[in-house]
Amino acid sequence: MGLFDIIEEIVDDDLLFIIKYGLIISNFITIFFLLYFKSRKQQNQKEEKKSVLIVTAHPDDEAMFFLPTITYLNDNNYEVHLLCLSNGNANKIGKIREAELQKCCKYLKIEKLTIINDEDLQDSMTATWPIEKIQKIVEDYITQKNMKGVITFDKNGVSGHLNHIACYKAISTMKRIEDLKVFVLETTNILRKYSSILDFFLSSVLNDNLMLNLNILKAWRSMQIHNSQFVWYRKLFVVFSRYAYINTLIKI
Ligand SMILES: [Zn+2]
Repeated sequence: MGLFDIIEEIVDDDLLFIIKYGLIISNFITIFFLLYFKSRKQQNQKEEKKSVLIVTAHPDDEAMFFLPTITYLNDNNYEVHLLCLSNGNANKIGKIREAELQKCCKYLKIEKLTIINDEDLQDSMTATWPIEKIQKIVEDYITQKNMKGVITFDKNGVSGHLNHIACYKAISTMKRIEDLKVFVLETTNILRKYSSILDFFLSSVLNDNLMLNLNILKAWRSMQIHNSQFVWYRKLFVVFSRYAYINTLIKI
């Protein structure tokens, strides 16, 4: 004996009619509201997507140093933009490096890439980049594209490269833009720098803004795309560098 047969015995026909169709209608109403709230949630997620700008000095900085940050931002519904202040023309292969960077940005799902090729901002271990010029480029980008966050190197530039440090000097001293959050990538000591994922414990204890990439293939592939730079010590870098797997950011 089914449920409706039992109910049929104890209630009259009119009530049975109301129960049957009431159940069907209430099911439809429930499904309608579930779909409605699901679409609202998706809409909100779209609306809330915030744009974050990563400022680097050379093509391959994003793959060598910022991969965990890019991974985190992608996984957390941010729109990632990359502003690279030079095309890495130190060995006169700037055009090749530009193409490699474009390919890498596609691979890393970076929404928008801008490569600057300015005579004052050429890839060089010794040149001093004019801070005001960097500030103007970065400020214009942030205001025009309505960026909500900017991330760059810290005062030691991870590798100590002068061009990396110039990014920090410019961004840390540029005029404050309302609602803009500024973060810098923490430089660790050399022992931690080459301790790969083993630095996880110390990083997590010392800094709340911890970002991870646990995919060694992604680290390898993003470096490999920069084919002109993929020499033996950069292959070792993928295995041993903490920056392929761990980023800690400091808010300034
Ligand atoms: Zn660099």
